Amino acid sequence: MSKDTARVFEEVCRHARRTAVMASIHEFLGWDERTMLPPGGAEHRAEQSTLLAGMIHQRWVDYKFGEQLDGLAADSADNDDSDAAVIVRRLKRQRDKRVKLPQSLVEELSRTAVMGQQAWQEARNGDDFAMFQPLLERTLELKRQQAEALGYPQCPYDALLDEFEPEELTANVGPVLENLRAELVPLVTSIEQSGRKPDCSILHRDYPVEAQDRFVREAAAAIGFDFRRGRLDVTAHPFCCSLGPGDCRITTRYYPDFFNAAFFGVLHEAGHGIYEQGLPAEQYGLPLGEFVSLGIHESQSRLWENFVGRNREFWTCFFPKAREYFPAALGDVSADDFFFAINESRPSLIRVEADEATYNLHILIRFELERAMLDGQLDAADLPDAWNEKYRQYLGITPPTNREGVLQDVHWSAGLIGYFPTYSLGNLYAAQFFAQAESELGNLANSFAKGDFQPLREWLREKIHRHGQRFTAAELVETITGRGLSAQPLLDHLRGKYRLLYQL
Ligand code: ZN
Repeated sequence: MSKDTARVFEEVCRHARRTAVMASIHEFLGWDERTMLPPGGAEHRAEQSTLLAGMIHQRWVDYKFGEQLDGLAADSADNDDSDAAVIVRRLKRQRDKRVKLPQSLVEELSRTAVMGQQAWQEARNGDDFAMFQPLLERTLELKRQQAEALGYPQCPYDALLDEFEPEELTANVGPVLENLRAELVPLVTSIEQSGRKPDCSILHRDYPVEAQDRFVREAAAAIGFDFRRGRLDVTAHPFCCSLGPGDCRITTRYYPDFFNAAFFGVLHEAGHGIYEQGLPAEQYGLPLGEFVSLGIHESQSRLWENFVGRNREFWTCFFPKAREYFPAALGDVSADDFFFAINESRPSLIRVEADEATYNLHILIRFELERAMLDGQLDAADLPDAWNEKYRQYLGITPPTNREGVLQDVHWSAGLIGYFPTYSLGNLYAAQFFAQAESELGNLANSFAKGDFQPLREWLREKIHRHGQRFTAAELVETITGRGLSAQPLLDHLRGKYRLLYQL
């Protein structure tokens, strides 16, 4: 790097870092909005958020910043994998995408998302799909325009998927998810036909909120969420957000008569948090300090929630503690019965309450339907029927109302099309990473039984967290596991677990 180039690179990094600081203030307003804000403050908060979002956008499309990035990119070879070259490549890619979207389309998308969510809320409350349909049609039209403006390698859906899973292709993800569906449907059926059922009433006994709060904090800290650099608060809809190095916020909700929601919710969000806390702080604000994709992010939360938290040996360590925290609820319950109950699998209507086996079928239904709508093969008007038909085919159940069917998720109303597959990608990646970790570290269940999660956590730090965006998701999986995206490890995991529990 010549002296001049080095100076320009420094300037570009300074600009990007300051933009990231501004974005973290925007995030902070978002955290506060969902956690603390009194209803009366919503309107002013919207004004604050819009102002900041505009300022952040301006910094991204800044002309000089763009010129400098283009110059640096032209100077470095495509196969240069130095830190500087990777930073420039990733920043340029992000900036180019922002520049391609006309301001008028960005504003129209954001306006339609606000109106769409209002219409969806009312439609859901009144179980009236027709009320939402015009907004959905408008959203689809705008998403097609967005895809055309951004450009795509093979099909318009690629452009939308890329927003959440950079550089991933529909043609790569589609067949893997189809394979997953083809194998999951018979598995779910055989579980259903096994006739075995855990006693899940034990999860709906008296679980005092205050004891839950202490228990989930103990578990989150044990797996490695650092409370000195993070917080746990209560919200209606749990989430994780990072406000910068040393400040990661997670949230949960407590039900006094249900164990799972807070406990597994916190393991999930803490998994997201551990990823954020593992990103290299010295790279903050630059691509090497940022998460790879939503799919990789979700792999970290699912790994801790399901592969650790729903592992039998995890409860060898944690069930005696659970009994101490909840003597009235669990005093007469065996660890095996508890373990079966928290791993119950059965077809249900609501995605967010689904178990490990059926969850992906909920996602695949949405993935197939949104692609069909975007391609114009399915009219929005026919969506409820198509939805119900797929639920019948894949899960063997039919929603009695649209409220429990097609109107249950906020995503489409908020313009989030191309988002759903990242949930399943997270599950697939989690299984691939966990299988690889076990092949390198030996049986991890032994360390879980002792409450030792360090070997797995350090492995994830080393293999995934510390790299930031050095690799794309596909490169990361390939580098770590020696193969591309695959449904096999997840299917092996699910079959192994349910074979034992349901005696298949
Ligand atoms: Zn998540």
